Amino acid sequence: MTVSLPEVSREWHLTARPHGWPQPDGFALVEAPVRAPGEGEILVRNVYLSVDPYMRGRMNDVKSYVPPFKLNQPMDGGAVGVVVASGDDRFAPGDHVLHGLGWREYATVPAGHATAVDPDLAPLSTYLGVLGMTGLTAYAGLLEVASFKEGDAVFVSGAAGAVGSQVGQIARLKGASRVIGSAGSDEKVKLLVEEYGFDAAFNYKSAPVAAQLKEAAPDGIDVYFDNVGGEHLEAALSSFNVHGRAAICGMIAQYNATEPPAAPRNLALVIGKRLRLQGMLVGDHAALRPAFVRDVAGWIRSGELKYNETVAEGVENTLDAFLGVLRGDNTGKMIVHLP
Ligand code: NAP
Repeated sequence: MTVSLPEVSREWHLTARPHGWPQPDGFALVEAPVRAPGEGEILVRNVYLSVDPYMRGRMNDVKSYVPPFKLNQPMDGGAVGVVVASGDDRFAPGDHVLHGLGWREYATVPAGHATAVDPDLAPLSTYLGVLGMTGLTAYAGLLEVASFKEGDAVFVSGAAGAVGSQVGQIARLKGASRVIGSAGSDEKVKLLVEEYGFDAAFNYKSAPVAAQLKEAAPDGIDVYFDNVGGEHLEAALSSFNVHGRAAICGMIAQYNATEPPAAPRNLALVIGKRLRLQGMLVGDHAALRPAFVRDVAGWIRSGELKYNETVAEGVENTLDAFLGVLRGDNTGKMIVHLP
């Protein structure tokens, strides 16, 4: 049977490197011919695209743990979709896959870079969020990097986002003595306490973080999961109990900064309090994936772990969805759905 393939696919290109906040005129949505899969490749119609804060770093021309996006080339990122043509025995048309060629409608993917996912086990979008990269980040960061143990008091910033909302709930489920979160709106703060079961939460935009954290954690904190950096990290250092541990996961407060951050000014506290601040990259924690999937899928099934997604519609809205993550438009994982 001959299947007719689409002729063109729309894909996003970075056309100029941003200085400070990315501006829409530094990007272009471009039509490109669809390439039929060769031997060992599959053609995927993307159904969900992931937009993530780390992509901001890839817009800068600097050496980092992932290479920068190339100018006037398709950008990439997490995506899930359906195979429409296959040049590899491992996949057949109709199969669903997770892969790394997002920011576009159709992707010709080396089969070895695709992972089969089952839409009957969990909604497709969750393979990008609660059961995907951001979920594993939360699980590994809390349990492995920050060495969380039962009875710890945990503070997480960016707590209404994809990673943060899962960190707080895993801490609660694993026996934290107190879970505190910060987020950027009163609605998000309400959600943290009422839906995710945080013990306390505050809006970091309404008063200084250090004072709000002290009030929310009168007995101090043992673990800080940092998604934000800057003033949040400074506040956590002040509130830490001795032998406190931080998983330094992200510093979104400075991703668009054009000047070095002013905080933390109290780093010397690490000495007297014998603190451990450890950076992390989720890619180092693949070995935890089976335990992560088992635990998180179980908690979702039992209703003990809740998740939200903010879904933008259409490839043309991918850039705005990405900028929305930086602005805080999202609750839970920000995802783009392609009809
Ligand atoms: P997310 O939290 O779902 O979205 C980002 C959130 O950051 C926004 O919703 C916004 O929420 C908040 N934000 C934006 N600017 C802020 C500022 N100046 N101060 C405080 N909060 C701000 O994104 P995510 O995918 O879950 O990622 C969370 C963090 O983890 C990011 O820093 C990301 O880079 C990092 N990360 C690291 C790894 C790793 O391997 N190290 C992996 C995944 C993610 P508000 O409305 O609350 O401001």
